[in-house]
Amino acid sequence: MTAPWIAHQTQSLLAQRGHAWLLQGPSGLGQYELALALASAWLCEQPSAHGACGQCPSCHAIAVRTHADLAVLMPETQMLELGWPLSEKAQTDIDDKKRKPSKEIRVEAMRDLVEFAQRTDARGRGKAVLVFPAERMNAVTANALLKTLEEPPGDVRFVLATEASHQLLPTIRSRCQTHTMVWPQAEQAMDWLAGQGVQAPVAEALLRSAGGRPENVLRQNSAGLTPAWWAALPKAMLQGGASHLSDLSPAQAIDALQKLCHDLVLRASGAEPRFFMGSQLPTTTASLATLTDWFKRLMQSARTAEHPFNAGLMLEALANDAQQALLSRV
Ligand SMILES: [Zn+2]
Repeated sequence: MTAPWIAHQTQSLLAQRGHAWLLQGPSGLGQYELALALASAWLCEQPSAHGACGQCPSCHAIAVRTHADLAVLMPETQMLELGWPLSEKAQTDIDDKKRKPSKEIRVEAMRDLVEFAQRTDARGRGKAVLVFPAERMNAVTANALLKTLEEPPGDVRFVLATEASHQLLPTIRSRCQTHTMVWPQAEQAMDWLAGQGVQAPVAEALLRSAGGRPENVLRQNSAGLTPAWWAALPKAMLQGGASHLSDLSPAQAIDALQKLCHDLVLRASGAEPRFFMGSQLPTTTASLATLTDWFKRLMQSARTAEHPFNAGLMLEALANDAQQALLSRV
């Protein structure tokens, strides 16, 4: 089921002309879903103003990830997560443990794209290129894409989706029409989450901890970060409870602690907390300066969180640091 705010944006983008779209906005608002809806509509054999029909051979080919006229450029980790097949060579290398799936969009993928752009479409509806997250291109791949964007063979359309448009080459941004993702209404988000099996009280609490981004709710929910877990996090950290973090990856733990710290900073400045209920936040003697320092340390940790020396030790260090900050009296 397409979320209503995505359906609405698909319709509005299809009503405009454009051969290259850049969808930008914070994560969790559905950039990828919108990009795919747009590309599917471009390639659909019976599209309507609402988008792709979902029934034709082209829509079916996209659903099973085998459309010859759709090129998907993503980091391999992302492709695996979203169920897109890797090239045979890449899959073999990874299966043989020659290397790990890449977290960037690879130069080889970009070379394939150049070939793709030059060949004739297979189904007579033109071709589409989907890039997500576009900020995962390095200088080489970004420049290669730029060349294709600058001189597109007539029948190729592009949709780039990004969660960090400031990291893109300005020349790429200027070649695209920009669309800023629309933030869903809380009620819309709740309805949609109910349709995905996350019921009202849980959805409400999770939506709060996800900063109002419904996609992130689904991710949190499937990662076992239940509302009860969130509610108990502040007090667990006050007691130095590293075990509360034990099911999380270091990156998830840092994200959760940043939200806690963020809310404590808000409260210390007299504002309403955003991710937690006021009653869930612990009484702390920590000063604004201490909290700010803690936040900076969390940001530093985030940089090494993808390759921690030892995930268990890192979680323990994070919990210790949180407790010290919360108990500090300076
Ligand atoms: Zn169709």
